[in-house]
Amino acid sequence: MTSATPHELPTERTAIVTGAASPRGIGRATAHRLAREGWAVAVIDLDENAARSVAAEVAENYGQATCGIGLDVTDRAGAFAAVERINAELPQLVGLVNNAGISSPTPFLEVTDEEWRRVIDVNLHGAFHITQAAARTMAANEVGRIVNVASASAQRGGGVYGRAAYSASKAALLGFARTLARELGPHGITANSVSPGSIDTDIMGGRLSEDRKQVLLQELPVGRIGTVDDVAGVIAFLLGPDGGYLTGVTYDVNGGSHIA
Ligand code: NAD
Repeated sequence: MTSATPHELPTERTAIVTGAASPRGIGRATAHRLAREGWAVAVIDLDENAARSVAAEVAENYGQATCGIGLDVTDRAGAFAAVERINAELPQLVGLVNNAGISSPTPFLEVTDEEWRRVIDVNLHGAFHITQAAARTMAANEVGRIVNVASASAQRGGGVYGRAAYSASKAALLGFARTLARELGPHGITANSVSPGSIDTDIMGGRLSEDRKQVLLQELPVGRIGTVDDVAGVIAFLLGPDGGYLTGVTYDVNGGSHIA
């Protein structure tokens, strides 16, 4: 393992990406992008076989060390066990991408207590557990990079995929990252957010229809729908060597659909 002065990224380093097994998702694209840029990658997702399969494909493509772990991010003990395993099996843990998430398209007047709690549990508490586990390792090593995947829905008041529960959970992630930035900065850890607009993935159970795309395009100054690689590239930048002086920021990866 390569040593570095405090706060510098070690040459051999690992990033965790949660929710990284979805075939056309932001997480898998991020795992690929990070490995391409020299990171070892821990792929976490609900389904162990799917997580292992993405880990194997990333290892094969870029020659990086990887592992695939089946974990429901709402499982606190499981999150701590996963970080322990990653610390034992992979190079120094430096990066964490809190990407696992579920949407909630139910209108507020109809949303049930159960649905509300599930969305907050996965999107917010899921990030809390694994971040605390990972940040303890990062703080001990005096270097770490955390990125939360929020959503434009949090900033503009609902979006294509999410209504109140989703937007509330994603807005909480923005505040969470900003607080981590202040509190963990002295430990050499940065914490930032990316806030994607509409990205063509399977989060709503299928790809965007052509009709839906045409409606979205009218709101997009860049003239195209966002791709998973648009988001993965910004996450990799925030985690990488050039991202070290950014902390507590939110990068709006939305093609101009919401300009704050
Ligand atoms: P996706 O459904 O393809 O990926 C989400 C992944 O999270 C899946 O692999 C799923 O299995 C995993 N996951 C869900 N619950 C989990 C749990 N409890 N434990 C572990 N893993 C779990 O969707 P995506 O669009 O790639 O979404 C990735 C992230 O980006 C999400 O946080 C989403 O809210 C956010 N986002 C997406 C868009 C978009 O337009 N697609 C926009 C803004 C934000």
